[in-house]
Amino acid sequence: MFTGPLDAAALERLKELAAGDSGRVSGRLAFVRDEQGRAVMEGHAEASLPLLCQRCAAVFQLEFHTDWRRIFARSEADERDLAEKGADVCYHVGLLDVADVVEEELMLALPMAPRHPEGCEPILRPATGTHPFAGLAGLLKRDRRDNRN
Ligand SMILES: [Zn+2]
Repeated sequence: MFTGPLDAAALERLKELAAGDSGRVSGRLAFVRDEQGRAVMEGHAEASLPLLCQRCAAVFQLEFHTDWRRIFARSEADERDLAEKGADVCYHVGLLDVADVVEEELMLALPMAPRHPEGCEPILRPATGTHPFAGLAGLLKRDRRDNRN
């Protein structure tokens, strides 16, 4: 069992997606064997990453976590079979870089279009540049003037 913080700065691909250096990642990993004797990594990772909000274009800190069960196939054919069954599988030769796997799993868990979870104001405006209710505000002002007279 491996538990502890990972160096977020060393996760190069995740760093490329981040909008700053304030990323934090920690994980918990265990290796077990499946009924066929394959190595299986059971993992949990938590991350806090600065991301660019796709709604308001401001940077915010996204907290997220992910759990996975990745099977290490015994051959490329084995990998294909398992992938067809929808398993999280990879075929790996040589030394395994655990941080690589954690990084991949975190990238899979990232939202495609990250946004402030608490909601925010969109920066998108109508193409004409006028506010859709600008005319309404004008009407309201005129009404108030009329009431005074
Ligand atoms: Zn936002």
